[in-house]
Amino acid sequence: MIQLSIREMAAMLRAKQISVAELSSLFFDRARAFNQQTNALTKVCCDISADQLIQAETMLAQEGHVLAGIPLAHKDLFCTQGLRTTCGSNMLKAFIPPYDATVVSNLKSQGMITVAKANMDEFAMGSSNEHSAFGAVNNPWDLTRVPGGSSGGSAAAVAARMVPVATATDTGGSIRQPAALCGITGIKPSYGRVSRHGMVAFASSLDQGGVMAASADDCALVLSAMCGHDALDSTSHVDAQWSWQLPESNSMKGKKVGVVTDWIDGLKDEAIKQSTLEAIQTLKDQGAEVIDIQLPHAHLAVAAYYVIAPAECSSNLSRFDGVRYGHRSEDCRDLEQLYVNSRTEGFGEEVKRRIMVGTWALSSGYYDAYYLKAQKVRRLISQDFAAAFKQVDVIAAPVSPEVAFKHGEKSEGVSMYQADVFTIPASLAGLPCLSMPVKPAHGLPVGLQLMGNYFDEQSILSMAHQFQQVTAWHQAMPEAFL
Ligand code: GLN
Repeated sequence: MIQLSIREMAAMLRAKQISVAELSSLFFDRARAFNQQTNALTKVCCDISADQLIQAETMLAQEGHVLAGIPLAHKDLFCTQGLRTTCGSNMLKAFIPPYDATVVSNLKSQGMITVAKANMDEFAMGSSNEHSAFGAVNNPWDLTRVPGGSSGGSAAAVAARMVPVATATDTGGSIRQPAALCGITGIKPSYGRVSRHGMVAFASSLDQGGVMAASADDCALVLSAMCGHDALDSTSHVDAQWSWQLPESNSMKGKKVGVVTDWIDGLKDEAIKQSTLEAIQTLKDQGAEVIDIQLPHAHLAVAAYYVIAPAECSSNLSRFDGVRYGHRSEDCRDLEQLYVNSRTEGFGEEVKRRIMVGTWALSSGYYDAYYLKAQKVRRLISQDFAAAFKQVDVIAAPVSPEVAFKHGEKSEGVSMYQADVFTIPASLAGLPCLSMPVKPAHGLPVGLQLMGNYFDEQSILSMAHQFQQVTAWHQAMPEAFL
């Protein structure tokens, strides 16, 4: 049961081979049972609510609701009404939102069942999920290793099938990198596709909600339901509505796939390089035409990102002042101390580091030299992609230069920042991109990244779906969780 696709689960629900209550209790039980080993979830809900049950059953009695009764977890930065939303931080450890994020309400309205909230790096800053006030998350493939981050909880929960699907967010790689390290599929849609309303902000010009699941088809079904224009998010695109069309079986024929040869040549890990090349060969075997391309400014992406993202974070996180909501220090005699002590106690080390860097980059005298310069680099990277997409339909690339690393292996900031060298360029350009499992290396999962032109989620998901029709990597599960 746990290895079935969403369509298969939906068919069983509709045929009354399993009830909504039975399906959800299967996953509630798994979520509770495996959370001790993985620490993937910050909260498992008590049980399915009567309202959710009735709604799902009513929808199942009608046609065309493939997501009704399907359980899911939300990354713990999507506001859930009446359900604690922590963002992995002490700052929000007691925060109970009075409203649902648009993503949450969109999926609820399709009859999906919220099982849990997923652990994450504090305020979505990190690539290992070791920076959470709720403790590190363990990779289900090897509990001594990290699941990637910041959506490591969502990725580990799906990899261990504690839930079949989870929402996640990606600012510089936080959907693709953990999906790759945990052997699942994850898509970050185009910027503006999915509403950011009710999603706790890290870097607003980059943050984008997306989804993780076993397969591209599962991701696409959920993405179709969560996207759409939202008047409550001023950066939501007016044409954000999209719905997944299952591709024809030979749709890869004649598709042009760009490969950034420099990136693959630069991979130090031979086994990852081999897996990447084999996956690209599989695309070729299915009729895709592979073309070498260049992204001449992409090597500047990490540097530009670590100016822009902290700058935006320093501004976004100024709202956590101990006055309005979030943690308030008990120890304060005046207003100044209230601010300082609440923020000192509420935020973790990495978050503080980013606030400091961002505040510095935005300060007068440094603004032009760093922030403005980084924005110019960002534009050059977007132009590189625009030129590439004149030649090709999809770009294939590695996701992560390495497989899941051991806990504690990368304690210092900059070596962690390099984990996103292949994911940040598409984030800066706002493009849709996904990671899908390919042949493992060193006994651990490896992902291939597919990047598409702006608003062309259909092409990358179609290609991933076709790939998954002829490979079985996405069906592999860590044995301890079978
Ligand atoms: N790892 C990157 C960072 O720490 C990206 C995080 C993300 O995408 N949320 O900023």
